Amino acid sequence: MARSRFILLIVALKALGVYAGCSRGKPRLQPYKETRQLMGIEVAVSVYPPEGVSGRDAADKAFAAIERVDREMSDYRTDSEVSKISANAGGAPVPVSAEVRNVIVRAAYFSRLSGGAFDVTIRPLVKLWQTAGVDNKLPSEEAIAKAKALVDWRQISVLNWTETEPSDSIKLGKAGMELELGGIGKGFAADAAIAALREAGVKSALVAAAGDMYALGSHPDGSPWLVGIQSPDSEGESLPQTLSLTDMAVSTSGDYRRYVEIEGRRYSHIIDPHTGRPVARMASVTVVAPNATDADALATALSVLGPDKGMELVRELRNVQAMMIVRQDSGPPSVVMSDGFKAFITPESK
Ligand code: ADP
Ligand code: MG
Repeated sequence: MARSRFILLIVALKALGVYAGCSRGKPRLQPYKETRQLMGIEVAVSVYPPEGVSGRDAADKAFAAIERVDREMSDYRTDSEVSKISANAGGAPVPVSAEVRNVIVRAAYFSRLSGGAFDVTIRPLVKLWQTAGVDNKLPSEEAIAKAKALVDWRQISVLNWTETEPSDSIKLGKAGMELELGGIGKGFAADAAIAALREAGVKSALVAAAGDMYALGSHPDGSPWLVGIQSPDSEGESLPQTLSLTDMAVSTSGDYRRYVEIEGRRYSHIIDPHTGRPVARMASVTVVAPNATDADALATALSVLGPDKGMELVRELRNVQAMMIVRQDSGPPSVVMSDGFKAFITPESK
């Protein structure tokens, strides 16, 4: 498999670094750029501030929005709203912020749309496979069946606010169920950062939460934001490509970066809720969509659905395009693109 180390790697910062300074003709105004470690990943913000606003202040607001989302949604923090919902599964509904309600409702929407391929209650299965990685021992059929029985997005209830309880509440139907926002949360955080920038009057910015990004507006000279990705050529070798984006999000899910190794084999961190096992064929999925929340959830959903059902779903959606890199039994991986995806590839990098 050495030849097919066809990593598809988002290298937005690199691409920005290369391209921001070398537009043809007159030198281009540079955006303010800052990178911080948040949510366990690298988050980068590039911003052209409006007059009277400093780039640093605008970026601070974007990072603050991401920190807020992380506080509400992290499953590493036992005091987050999302952890509280999981801790109360099978019991009383937990009052939540509008933001947490929104992300869970959107996640449930994509669960329905993908026929359950995306499932925000996947956590018992994710934990099972993580433990298998630590123990270096495949889980038993029985353990998989037991965890699978706790994964069912239809058991999520959203209760509307009342006179006595002024926020919406969320409840998981069965004890032992747990929420996992890993497949949608980084995109949601990127959108929250963009909302904060918009509120600060910013019209042009790029937020990259690792592989989940949103490009707001364009550069001041009207050219689109350039986001670098690496995808394989026909030999399976890595080949950099650049996407041109204006008011669009892009998200990449792949098993090149995060996986577990069990008994000498690599397993994806994306699990098929129907089989209870990690997905095998999808090396990476890149989705372009109108917002980063949707792009993130869809990239995870398509990783489970595979190329045929995945592209069928993409065709049903408006303003969504995808590229999927699918492993073959032998030879180089195949690249499958929806009809409109090519339009986002920057001509020089085609
Ligand atoms: P990353 O950018 O961290 O690779 P992805 O967007 O690719 O994240 O989603 C992978 C994460 O989504 C997993 O780490 C897990 O938290 C969660 N996940 C795994 N399988 C599913 C699934 N079938 N539905 C929803 N979320 C999933
Ligand atoms: Mg995702």
